[in-house]
Amino acid sequence: MCTGRVDLAFVLRAFQKGATGVIIAGCWLGECHYVTEGNYDALNMMHLCKKLLEHAGVRPERLRLEWVGASEGIRFAEVMNDFANTLRELGPLGAAEGATPDHLASRLAALARLVPYIKLAKREKLALRLKSPEEYLQLYATDEVAALIRDVVSYYVEPELCQACMICLRRCPADAIAGGKNLIHVVDQDKCIKCGTCFDVCPPRFGAVRKISGAPVPPPLPEEARVVVRKGKGARRE
Ligand code: SF4
Ligand code: SF4
Repeated sequence: MCTGRVDLAFVLRAFQKGATGVIIAGCWLGECHYVTEGNYDALNMMHLCKKLLEHAGVRPERLRLEWVGASEGIRFAEVMNDFANTLRELGPLGAAEGATPDHLASRLAALARLVPYIKLAKREKLALRLKSPEEYLQLYATDEVAALIRDVVSYYVEPELCQACMICLRRCPADAIAGGKNLIHVVDQDKCIKCGTCFDVCPPRFGAVRKISGAPVPPPLPEEARVVVRKGKGARRE
């Protein structure tokens, strides 16, 4: 697989499952066989991922990206031995971090759910093509990533405004909206990947989807209170 295909989600999932380390090895920069030059994307993703791992409490040295051409068998062996030594020093996941694997797994799972949001929020930086690997080093700051996670946006359907048109339910890519004909729609916050599609597609005349940041999301409406009763132009909840 091209290193450019390695997604943030793959790396976080590996650590979530308890991997001691993750190494991504691929063609040298400038030696990609294709116009896509995906190894630059891999380099960009790796630096963002290291910051996310740090945020989750995982030592970033557990993730490594190395350039190893198909004909460089000796280099491959050297790189792998060196990485294995690093991991031996760090010990299993959690040992160098002073945290239990379960604690790290739940932090990583929370981050993994935010990958679509993170990629959307950082899409401009992720698309950058810089000249040298050194420039990529400066791309993401610890504070910036902390703020990104702290200010994460949630989406909530205002019960009084929802007209049960079902557009958001049909367009949600994560099957995170419960609803139906004549039912007030409700976002399942555990399934929501924060893509913002429901906010964008809810007709402006309803404006029922609210973006929430820095404040708690109201609890979901109880199922028995979700029926919309339409009388004339208006609608009310039973
Ligand atoms: S933001 Fe809205 S459309 Fe996107 S996953 Fe969450 S509920 Fe679904
Ligand atoms: S698109 Fe808006 S009005 Fe229609 S069901 Fe979703 S939240 Fe309700």
